Amino acid sequence: MEDINSNLESLYKKIAAAALRVHRNPQDIRLVAVSKRMPAHFVKTALACGQKIFGENYLQDAQKKIEEIGPGPEWHFIGHIQSNKAKNVVSLFDMIHTVDREKLARAINSHAGKIGKKTSVLVQVNVGKEEQKAGVLPEQTEELLKKLQQFDCLLVKGLMTMPPYRNNPEDVRPYFRALREIAEQYTPKGYFHQPDKVELSMGMSHDFEVAIEEGATLIRVGTAIFGPRPSLEKS
Ligand SMILES: *Cc1c(COP(=O)(O)O)cnc(C)c1O
Repeated sequence: MEDINSNLESLYKKIAAAALRVHRNPQDIRLVAVSKRMPAHFVKTALACGQKIFGENYLQDAQKKIEEIGPGPEWHFIGHIQSNKAKNVVSLFDMIHTVDREKLARAINSHAGKIGKKTSVLVQVNVGKEEQKAGVLPEQTEELLKKLQQFDCLLVKGLMTMPPYRNNPEDVRPYFRALREIAEQYTPKGYFHQPDKVELSMGMSHDFEVAIEEGATLIRVGTAIFGPRPSLEKS
């Protein structure tokens, strides 16, 4: 497992370098280690190396892992959520990156209320307007942000995106920039819980450096830490 250790170390260095290139404080960028489909002992290894935040996107797989690992990590949910599964997501996760519709927000809010929790959420925006992708369209983002204000148990911390895949990370830059501009446009309107600290969840293994240059505060990196994922099995 020396790989995970050295992968993390080289990643932390690249994160700091990208931040410094654009005169940002490297501490303002948090790494979400995406452990989806990876065994619990990989997470434990990364934890032992000082990595604190982990991202999962399959509820069943995550649930077993979270229970096995116990207290310690901060867990972020980064996958698609059916509204009827919101209950478990709320109780297991510290932040949900993928709120893209009112119905889901309502379900999260209701379960959070029942267990006396305030749940941190991000609004997922489909900046590339891709048919097959989740997320609210850029032009409908404000409407959704407005609706979320009615939910007392949601802390709307910022925005998240999964941009179109491009071989050259430079070609993804306009999409990252678009997400930042949407956040900048709506921050003064008071839609975000902490206007001086609006989160932008963007950037993955192959394009996180560009995302940091464009303002990412949370990057979601899997393969570059844990290696290639096993293929999807039916569960
Ligand atoms: C899997 C996944 C990632 C991580 O992707 P890598 O290319 O392995 O870094 C990031 N975000 C989301 C939403 C994912 O599903």
